[in-house]
Amino acid sequence: MRTRVAIIGAGPAGLMLAHLLHLAGIDSVVLEDRSREYIERRVRAGVLEHPTVELLRECGVADRLDREGMVHHGVVLRFDGADHRVGLTDLTGRSITVYGQQEVVKDLVAARLATGRPILFEVADVALHDLETDAPSVTFRHADGSPGRIDCDFVAGCDGYHGVSRPSVPEGVLRVYEHTYPYAWLGVLARAAPSHPELIYSAHERGFALHSMRSPEVTRLYLQVAPDEPLADWPERRIWDELGRRLAVDGFTLNEGPLIETSVAAMRSFVVEPMRHGRLFLAGDAAHIVPATGAKGMNLAIADVRRLAAAIAAYAADGRTDLLDGYSDACLRRVWRAQHFSWWMTSMVHLPPDADPFSERLRRAQLHYVAASPAAARSLAENYVGLPFEGADEQGWYEGR
Ligand SMILES: Cc1cc2nc3c(=O)[nH]c(=O)nc-3n(C[C@H](O)[C@H](O)[C@H](O)COP(=O)(O)OP(=O)(O)OC[C@H]3O[C@@H](n4cnc5c(N)ncnc54)[C@H](O)[C@@H]3O)c2cc1C
Repeated sequence: MRTRVAIIGAGPAGLMLAHLLHLAGIDSVVLEDRSREYIERRVRAGVLEHPTVELLRECGVADRLDREGMVHHGVVLRFDGADHRVGLTDLTGRSITVYGQQEVVKDLVAARLATGRPILFEVADVALHDLETDAPSVTFRHADGSPGRIDCDFVAGCDGYHGVSRPSVPEGVLRVYEHTYPYAWLGVLARAAPSHPELIYSAHERGFALHSMRSPEVTRLYLQVAPDEPLADWPERRIWDELGRRLAVDGFTLNEGPLIETSVAAMRSFVVEPMRHGRLFLAGDAAHIVPATGAKGMNLAIADVRRLAAAIAAYAADGRTDLLDGYSDACLRRVWRAQHFSWWMTSMVHLPPDADPFSERLRRAQLHYVAASPAAARSLAENYVGLPFEGADEQGWYEGR
C-alpha cells in the first residue's frame, strides 16, 4: 500500500488528523490495534474546550455534538462547606461542552468510513521503519494474520502513551520530562442524573472529589485516593459514602445509582521533546500526558493534529517545510501552558498525603484568591475554556472545504 500519511492509532488524535487531511485532499491510512467496538466504548475524557468544539464544527463532524453535547457556562469550586462559582462565559465569553470522548470517536469513525478512505482495525505487530529517510514505511499484520506494509511520506504517531511510535525513536534523541503526583483518581460512571448542573471541584479536608457528568442520565464522579489504591478496597457503598462526605454542603443531595464502570487512574505529567524525529511526528498522548484535573488531554491531542494537518497540507500544496519544521516547538508551547495549568489546578484542589502546615496554608490562600478575585478567576477560566489556537498561517485553512 502507498499513501501520503500512515497514521498509527484511532484515538481522537489519529481520527481527527485523518479527517483534516481528507478535507485537504490528502490520503492517509489509519492503523488501530483494537476493534471498532472497543474504541467506541472506551470511556475517558468528557470536557471539550471551546476551540475543540469550533474545530469539530468547522470540519462538519459536530451535528450530534450540537444536539447532545451539554454546554456549560461555569464550574464550581467547593470548599469550607460553600460553593464559589467561576463563571466561564461571564469571564471569557466562551464555554465548554460536556460530550464523551467515546462519542467524539464514534463521530470521527463514522466520518472516516463515509470518506471511503482506509481505516484498519485489529492490526498487530505494527513496526516503523526508515524514519530518518524520505521514504519511511510501516509493517503490520492485518486482523486475519496476513502481513501488510505501507510506504508513505510521513508517519503520524497518534498511538497514545503505550503505543509503538515513541519507542521507535532511537534512544537518546528525546528528552523526557516527568512528574508523578502522590495521589490517583478513583473514577466511577453511575446511572444517575447529575446532582448539579455544573462540574463541582470539591477541595475537602478528606481529599479531593469531582462531580461531573456525561449525559442527563449519567454522572461521572472521582475521588482522590492513594496512587497504589486497590480497587477491591472500594465496594459500591464505600464509594457513595465517601463521595457524600466530600461533596457535602447545605442543600446539596448526591443522586446515587448503579455503577456502570469503576477504575483507578494515576495522576502524572509527561512530555517528550521534540515531538518529531525525521519523518515521524508524535501527537497527543504519544508525546504528552497531563493530570485529568484540568481536562486538557483530549483537547491537546486535537490541537496537535490540527497543526500537523496544516503543516502536511502546506507541504503537499507547494513543498513548504517551515510548518513541519516548526511543528514541535509550536505544539510544545501549548502543551507546557496546559501542563502548568493542569499542575496548578491539581495542586490547588488535592490534599497532599505529606502536607505540611505551611504549604496547606498556601493552598488554601490560593483557593480563597480564586474565589474572591475576578482577575484570578478569569485566569482559571481562560485556561479552562481553552486558549485560542495560535498561528495565523494555519488559522482556518480547512474552512469551506
Ligand atoms: C479517566 C480519564 C479521564 C480523562 N478526562 C479527560 C478530560 O476530561 N478532558 C480531556 O481533554 N482529556 C481527558 N483525559 C485524557 C484523554 O482521554 C487523552 O488525552 C486522549 O485519549 C488522547 O488521545 P490520543 O488520540 O492522543 O490517544 P488515545 O486516545 O490513547 O488513542 C491512541 C490509540 O492508539 C491505539 N494504539 C495503541 N498502540 C497501538 C499500536 N501499536 N498500533 C496501532 N494502534 C495502537 C489505541 O488503541 C488507541 O485507540 C482523560 C483520560 C482518562 C484516562
